[in-house]
Amino acid sequence: MKKTVLAKPTKEIMQKAKELILSGEVVAMPTETVYGLSANAFDDEAIKKIFIAKGRPQDNPLIVHISSMEQLEKIAYVTPLAKKLAENLWPGPLTMVLKKKDCISEVVSGGLDTVGVRMPNHPVALELIETCGVPLPAPSANISGKPSPTKATHVLDDFDGKIDLIIDGGECEVGVESTVISIQEEHGDNNGEMLERITILRPGAITANDLLEYCDRVYVGNGVLNKLDENVKVQSPGMKYKHYAPNAQVIMLDGNFKEFCDYVYKNADENTGVLVFENEESMFEDIEYVYTYGKEDDSLSQANKLFDVLRQIDKNEKVNKIFARMPKKQGVGLAVYNRLLRACGFKIEKLKNPYIVGLTGQTGSGKSTVCKALRDRGVAIIDCDKISREVINKAEVLEKLADYFGTGIMYADGTLNRRELAILAFSEEENLIFLNSVMYPQITKVVKEQIKQLKENGENIIILDAPTLFESKANVLCDKTIAVIADKEVRLERIVKRDNITKQEGKIRMKAQHTNDFYTDRCDLVIENDGDLQSLEQKAVRVIDSIKQEIQEKAQI
Ligand code: AMP
Ligand code: MG
Repeated sequence: MKKTVLAKPTKEIMQKAKELILSGEVVAMPTETVYGLSANAFDDEAIKKIFIAKGRPQDNPLIVHISSMEQLEKIAYVTPLAKKLAENLWPGPLTMVLKKKDCISEVVSGGLDTVGVRMPNHPVALELIETCGVPLPAPSANISGKPSPTKATHVLDDFDGKIDLIIDGGECEVGVESTVISIQEEHGDNNGEMLERITILRPGAITANDLLEYCDRVYVGNGVLNKLDENVKVQSPGMKYKHYAPNAQVIMLDGNFKEFCDYVYKNADENTGVLVFENEESMFEDIEYVYTYGKEDDSLSQANKLFDVLRQIDKNEKVNKIFARMPKKQGVGLAVYNRLLRACGFKIEKLKNPYIVGLTGQTGSGKSTVCKALRDRGVAIIDCDKISREVINKAEVLEKLADYFGTGIMYADGTLNRRELAILAFSEEENLIFLNSVMYPQITKVVKEQIKQLKENGENIIILDAPTLFESKANVLCDKTIAVIADKEVRLERIVKRDNITKQEGKIRMKAQHTNDFYTDRCDLVIENDGDLQSLEQKAVRVIDSIKQEIQEKAQI
């Protein structure tokens, strides 16, 4: 057990820090992003101590901190764009992944042939690197997996007794780790000239917009917003590990403030806390554990507070679940979102319900044409006819129907004779009522399951294609109902052709159907099919566009 000193950066302390580093020890230093655990870049034994102290996987490379451009040239191959970025954005929260030179060992680079380099914008860090005369690899000064430290006391919480010295430089100005980028050479569109482009491997306070000033394209790496497979070899190894998570389970809720409140009051118990924006704190009088992370419209203030509040939550043993407000993903917000996403173990609950449009009309009215036009334009469709065909073949359903209609509705092999059932069902009203009483609840159950699935997939409009929307009462699930109607003759011709039946059979089916008035009285909107399919499609698209606009306007309120 060491005696850990936590002290302000006086002359004596800085001298002590230098001696420790040059004798192969590890020292915690402040930077403008987060505190770092630093050691001599050229001393592998010292570097190994960092990995051991943090419990960090060996394939997770360290960022090497430098204080001059000479040091950069010494450890990495510097491309023209890297030079330009260094000159303009350093010292600052930007790490560049560059091809390493031999003096950087694989212990530092996590076995890669590249090295992450950064010049921190903090007087204490710069002074320490300079007086030591060597670059200092310095990963965040936290036990691997815990939130990064933004105060000296956070470092003490994790490393008391394990390292000799923590230099206390006050609270970190930025609060989230640096933006990590790689630079690619690509053939340009004109003349095949080589262009240098940037990929953000980890978002930070230097944003995509900041970088766009110096190159013509910035990509966001796929580990920034998505979960990476832990077994896969990736460009930025640190991004695949679970990170920042407190003991309590954190769940990010994707919705507006009202939706957030509704969800919290429905789902919170006495061990649930909330993580909200500062201006919202007073709205949760009934919740005992209310934490905040910055102001809603100020991503920098969120970046500043996030790790500290995650550590506070970690210390509160009474809280086992946290519902968190979702930050905006623009600018520095992307870094905040990226960290909170990892603290949640990627668990996001979507609160926004999709807008459900019920589409109905008689058989042959052109409903399917409307659906196809909308499906072709990417709108999600739930096809109740298809569901009904699946449901009717379920053993429990077949059994009930055979009890009532007789085994004549089945083929010898026990499957359904649909045509026979249709003739019986449509011949008497009572029969149809019975059939529907068996089918509707089964269909509605599947519809609800499909809505849930589509919501999880992020759909915001769903068309419920339901010939019996009102009879089955599925209209209560809808935000809007639309009827497609057509004249009798148009319909008869269409169904005879479509279903390959006689005119007589077609007429019997149509007799069991409602009049146009039934639909126009009940639906919010009516689309008339005059037999011209192209104009029918156009009408459908116009309707869906107006619904999209309505949704957008609502979201802005
Ligand atoms: P930390 O030092 O804990 O703030 O994290 C350093 C992170 O920077 C690593 O986990 C990587 O994601 C990234 N990084 C550092 N060096 C490299 C490199 N040579 N190649 C790719 N990513 C790197
Ligand atoms: Mg870290």
